[in-house]
Amino acid sequence: MMDFANILFGGPCNRRCPFCIGQQLPLAVRQDNLDRFPPTNLGALIEAVNRLGVRQIVFTGTTTDPQLYRHECRLLELLRSQVTTGASYSLHSNGVLAIKKIEVFNQYDKACLSLPSFESTTYQRMMGANTQVPDLEKILERSRIPVKISCLINEHNASEIDSFLARCQRLGVERVVLRRLLGETRHWEVLEDHHPVRFYRGNPVYDLAGMEVTFWSFDETRSTSLNLFPDGTLTGDYHLTRVGETSTVAAG
Ligand code: SF4
Repeated sequence: MMDFANILFGGPCNRRCPFCIGQQLPLAVRQDNLDRFPPTNLGALIEAVNRLGVRQIVFTGTTTDPQLYRHECRLLELLRSQVTTGASYSLHSNGVLAIKKIEVFNQYDKACLSLPSFESTTYQRMMGANTQVPDLEKILERSRIPVKISCLINEHNASEIDSFLARCQRLGVERVVLRRLLGETRHWEVLEDHHPVRFYRGNPVYDLAGMEVTFWSFDETRSTSLNLFPDGTLTGDYHLTRVGETSTVAAG
């Protein structure tokens, strides 16, 4: 049983995260497909989604942000007309274009935005020099879909996590996922004064006054997905799934 399907976009990004794992993928699967409609081999993905009963389809990226794709709405329309599983459509993005493309953003069923910090200096260390922190407050005001926040933790923002979560709470965020980089062995002291209310696939889930926070570790997580890469490669391979997801921490 496949949990979800990723449609992965490749090409230049509007951020330059030093940890962008997509950059380590073979050139073929991170080629620029931002202007290609429909994505190469989409028919095979749709066939597999329908055959396997996949109920979640994610727009994400290997080396780019999926909101840089020029045909988001057309692709959503095409999928909604041909996928028969009642799937929901999720955007995994760095949020940089969310306001500018808010009408498109609201065409998804939900979104997961990667945001490592509200502090400009920290954000630039993690997402690239001369970049601006997206205005999450404005995004949430204008969004008509549920928005989850994904926060990668490393040495730059580990000490800010408590204040980061407090700010998310103040903004009315309902769900946050804290992530570690693939292969990360360092221990981050986060939420150590809290007790998990449950575990999701082995990952502790906390309740911070109504805001759900999951501390996610890919190394301890097993999930399966279909992955359509920019060159048309279609896989159900767990490792590639992890690479794609980690790359888009960021983007998703
Ligand atoms: S990690 Fe994501 S947002 Fe950062 S450069 Fe890579 S694709 Fe872009």
